[in-house]
Amino acid sequence: MARRKIIAGNWKMNMTPSQAVALCDTLKDLVATDEADVVYCVPAIDIVPVVEAVKGTNVEVGAENLYFEDKGAYTGEISAEMLVDAGVKYVIIGHSERRDYFKECDCLLNKKVKQAFKAGLIPILCCGESLEQREMGVTMDWIRLQIKSDLTGVTADQVKEMVIAYEPIWAIGTGKTATTGQAQEVCKGIRDCIAEIYDTDTAEAVRIQYGGSVNAGNAAELFAQPDIDGGLVGGASLKADFGKIVNYK
Ligand code: PEP
Repeated sequence: MARRKIIAGNWKMNMTPSQAVALCDTLKDLVATDEADVVYCVPAIDIVPVVEAVKGTNVEVGAENLYFEDKGAYTGEISAEMLVDAGVKYVIIGHSERRDYFKECDCLLNKKVKQAFKAGLIPILCCGESLEQREMGVTMDWIRLQIKSDLTGVTADQVKEMVIAYEPIWAIGTGKTATTGQAQEVCKGIRDCIAEIYDTDTAEAVRIQYGGSVNAGNAAELFAQPDIDGGLVGGASLKADFGKIVNYK
């Protein structure tokens, strides 16, 4: 069965609650489609107003992070249960900005992935190599390590439901998109890795996005690749262009 495309915006640390509602209003008709899942991953403080603002539309809401414990003395953190109760369906885990600036390691990310599943959230697990790693020729070794570590103890049925986002770090927010060939090659490599760890059914079911300077001009070619099931979009998700990315065909 063909995999349904999933196109998610990662708003990062942008948009105050009132700006977020205004953006939902601007994008509402532009992102309407029956052909793909559309998700806005928004800052924690925007979740409640954005859930309200997208009610009755085709847009689902995602969080940009969660904490792996159920509840308790973890000042500043947000639990999976809180996200679910607020109406969140997806959660980004392991974005390179969190791996880098907040020193989130694979062991922690594995706990977050498992916590997301426990609460009924769908993880969008990010992976990707630095420019140095690409130049050293270790891209796929590095990504396989990330995938294997982050999915330790995760079942095949869970993997079939989740999303993996391949995001080369050198392409995020830089305007440098991976070539279609580079993006397809790594997304296929990730699918092969899932087939090795699990089985071919699981590998065929898991949705794999490309992320890294996706825009209205390159989305169609990227998303037409056999192993690219949509995109995780940063900068361009904050503009009317996101509608063109969602309706890329
Ligand atoms: C991202 O933040 O996940 C991302 C891919 O950003 P950008 O599209 O701006 O490169």
